[in-house]
Amino acid sequence: MSENVTTLINESPCAQPGGGGPLTYDFDRSEFWRSIPLWRDVDSKTFGDFRWQQRNSVTSIPGIKEALCELASSALISDIEAGLLKTPMNIRLTPYIFSRIHWENFENDPIRRQFLPLGSQFVPDHPQVMDDSLAEDVDKATPHLTHRYPDKALFLPITLCPVYCSFCTRSRVVGGSTAVKSKSAYGAKSKEWDSTFEYIRNHPDLEDIVISGGDALLLRPDQIRQIGRNLLQIPTVRRIRFATKGLAIMPMKFTSDNEWVKALDDVCRLGREKMKEVALHTHFNTDREISSWTSEAMKVLSDTGVRVRNQSVLISGVNDAFDCLHYTTKKLSSLLIQPYYLYLHDMVPGCDHLRTTVREAEYLSNRLQGAIAGFNTPRVVCDAPGGGGKREISSYTLYDQEIGVSAWTSPTAKPNEIFYYYDPINKLPEDGRVIWSKHGEIKRRLAKFKSDAESKAEATRT
Ligand SMILES: *Cc1c(COP(=O)(O)O)cnc(C)c1O
Ligand code: SF4
Repeated sequence: MSENVTTLINESPCAQPGGGGPLTYDFDRSEFWRSIPLWRDVDSKTFGDFRWQQRNSVTSIPGIKEALCELASSALISDIEAGLLKTPMNIRLTPYIFSRIHWENFENDPIRRQFLPLGSQFVPDHPQVMDDSLAEDVDKATPHLTHRYPDKALFLPITLCPVYCSFCTRSRVVGGSTAVKSKSAYGAKSKEWDSTFEYIRNHPDLEDIVISGGDALLLRPDQIRQIGRNLLQIPTVRRIRFATKGLAIMPMKFTSDNEWVKALDDVCRLGREKMKEVALHTHFNTDREISSWTSEAMKVLSDTGVRVRNQSVLISGVNDAFDCLHYTTKKLSSLLIQPYYLYLHDMVPGCDHLRTTVREAEYLSNRLQGAIAGFNTPRVVCDAPGGGGKREISSYTLYDQEIGVSAWTSPTAKPNEIFYYYDPINKLPEDGRVIWSKHGEIKRRLAKFKSDAESKAEATRT
């Protein structure tokens, strides 16, 4: 076991950048999961079976203890227990992603940070956080469809996920109830989708349909076909995309679930016949999530002809260092996974320790531009809270860095409205934090900011 642990440490994420010279892309081929005591004797064939991955997912504290055995220090366990009392998300990790964590350095591990919040790392929520930060429920056209933009819509046929991410923007519906959040979850109800297809048929402006959730990975093969065919047969729909975190957290789905891949392949073929695009949008945040299992999965996906793109969330302590971000972007590109968006973290509850400021995001956006091919440069965006939609990070109307508030307009999606994003208070300069601690002062300061933003937006409109 010690041998495997050493391999993991040496394969340090983001060790590549810096120092000049060409980057090399290292796809971990080791049997890294054997460093987890419970899976010491699991062979590569078993580990590579998606059913085994699903059945052996870690979903509880006893499950973590059982997997880690002697690696589970009491400090770690009590910190996770404390975290669970504060988070809106439950625990769910596939063995693949669980064993990509460097457990000997769990406190700072960028993968642990995404899936297992530690009580000691929480900071109080910003007073402005919202359950439905993106107002997806407000823009609902049918129970399963959010229609906000003129020519594209978001179809949410499922709320099930193969993993639960601490930073989930849909934590209000995804991932089962927790100590601080009760949810009425539903699985995939294929009978209820007809009204959505009907709506899309009756709205010929809709050319792009995003199929998200939850996670499209957990749709059955017949459901992938049902959704794919129904949508592609609508003459006015030009492009569809399935959103799944699967490639990042269970790449063996694509190498071992032949039926699912066959269903996707059929949908892609129909797309080609009709000159329509079928894409798969996935979600990697760091280069350590990419291993030789990912490259094998990408070989299979390339054969189907599906176009693969990546959407990341900018997360403090995970991918907010330029070198990491740059390397991840290049490594994804090397596998034909096209970096698409890098989102500023949504203002959802239980996440302020994971958020960054607009200023940091702007800095990273500036550095990324020109560092890689333009078509592989992710667009850094703020999904404006309250339903403003995705906005280029530098396109705010006004930004007060001291108290961390920015104002955004969205002339196409919501003309005449202004949207506000609030930086996490713990990341503000000292003076800004002091202002937030004084009720009267912050109220005055925000009122002034909003009135300045309104005048400026008004001036731009006319
Ligand atoms: C992100 C999103 C889309 C798709 O937008 P793109 O910029 O084309 O990726 C559509 N509808 C909603 C509500 C969205 O949030
Ligand atoms: S996979 Fe996506 S929808 Fe599911 S928990 Fe993670 S962020 Fe949320």
